[in-house]
Amino acid sequence: EYLNRIHEMDKLLGAFLTVDAERALQKAQLLDEKWKNGEHLGPLAAVPVAVKDNLCTKGLLTTAGSRILENFIPRYDATTVSRLEAADAIVVGKTNMDEFGMGSSTELSGFHPSKNPWDPSRVCGGSSGGSAAAVASGMAPFALGSDTGGSIRQPASFCGVCGLKPTYGKVSRFGLVAFSSSLDTVGPMASSVIELATIFQVLAGHDSMDSTSLSDKVPCYTDMLQEKGALDLKGITLGVVYDERMLSLEGFRNINGTGVEDLMRCFQESIRVLTHLNVKVVPISLSFLEEALAAYYVIAPSEASSNLARYDGVRFGIRQYASHISELYQKSRGMGLGSEVKRRILTGTFALSTGYYDAYYRKALQVRQLISQQFENLFQQLDIIVCPTTPCAAFELGEKMEDPVKMYMEDLLTIPASLAGLPAVSIPMGFDSDHMPLGLQLIGNRQREDILFRVGHAFQ
Ligand code: GLN
Repeated sequence: EYLNRIHEMDKLLGAFLTVDAERALQKAQLLDEKWKNGEHLGPLAAVPVAVKDNLCTKGLLTTAGSRILENFIPRYDATTVSRLEAADAIVVGKTNMDEFGMGSSTELSGFHPSKNPWDPSRVCGGSSGGSAAAVASGMAPFALGSDTGGSIRQPASFCGVCGLKPTYGKVSRFGLVAFSSSLDTVGPMASSVIELATIFQVLAGHDSMDSTSLSDKVPCYTDMLQEKGALDLKGITLGVVYDERMLSLEGFRNINGTGVEDLMRCFQESIRVLTHLNVKVVPISLSFLEEALAAYYVIAPSEASSNLARYDGVRFGIRQYASHISELYQKSRGMGLGSEVKRRILTGTFALSTGYYDAYYRKALQVRQLISQQFENLFQQLDIIVCPTTPCAAFELGEKMEDPVKMYMEDLLTIPASLAGLPAVSIPMGFDSDHMPLGLQLIGNRQREDILFRVGHAFQ
């Protein structure tokens, strides 16, 4: 059924880069036999999953949305993929994304843009846009995405689905094509919070193949959500982000100059709903949003410039032949990488170079540290911080392509949690006056996915 749906819908949406029907049907057949023989089946038995194309899948094309990897077939699975396989989920295909995760609309894919199922003249967000569009259009019940500065939460918000960016280190990065290693996370996207918790249960936990993997025991989230009284949020304190200055920032205007009113109407309505669930509400402001954005756009490109050095035309992907090795590098990178990726490599190389390192990179790390401390202070009194996921709803295709800074502003509200390594979910909170979905972001303290799930589930 899901493969038929993909066949029908994906011509319009372009959410997938690769669909492997044969492999999916084979696995389904195998599970069917196991089931008939009364054998044990995993917790995600026969549930189809769409996997973002920056997660390695053994024997299945993995491009990270880049032409430079257009022929790359990994010899191993990412840990997240092998955990899903072990739980008996069925990988149906690989989803489209902004090249190497750099972007907020999936228009920066090296292959084709993906479209928003609610209105195909609009973007589906990014960089996990293909995964969000696949879940929102019913082509897969759930998907894997990756989130470095908002790439799970922002497309989830644009497509009206739920998305979780876990605590840094809680889900293995082994087999994830690296963008910015100190910020990269892998997480699930699905229709409901309880589904996110079910999938996260399978994904989370220590992996010796990832040196930054946390070793703490993973609690049983799904049991917690089914406990009696789980829907009563008494005792939970919510910090509600509201400040006038934030709303005057440029990113909060959509193409018609409106948007803020719709956003605030849905946000205030959501806070009312939460108040009815007995939470205590404390107004707060995040005074560091612009500084966080600036720090991110130094740190992420710096790490990317180092991580992407491996794409030289020698070891992976496409190779352009030349008479000298340096010409081979130049031609392969010149052909294989898109302009945003080149911009990030240049920015990052600049920020890391002698003479500029202290002024840019080290300064950005100091800002990051201060932001983490501010969150730490806030979480001494709060359990959850809530704010909208994005400054406005999904924009028109092409609207922000000419101006990279406009595209960067999309991440204004998602980047702070990324810099501090905190878990955060985006949950649908209503629609704007063009009937486009808007998302509510809940940010939790380190390792407190349990509270995020509890509040998110009760809210839904
Ligand atoms: N949009 C942000 C960027 O372009 C975040 C991307 C991400 O989380 N992968 O860097």
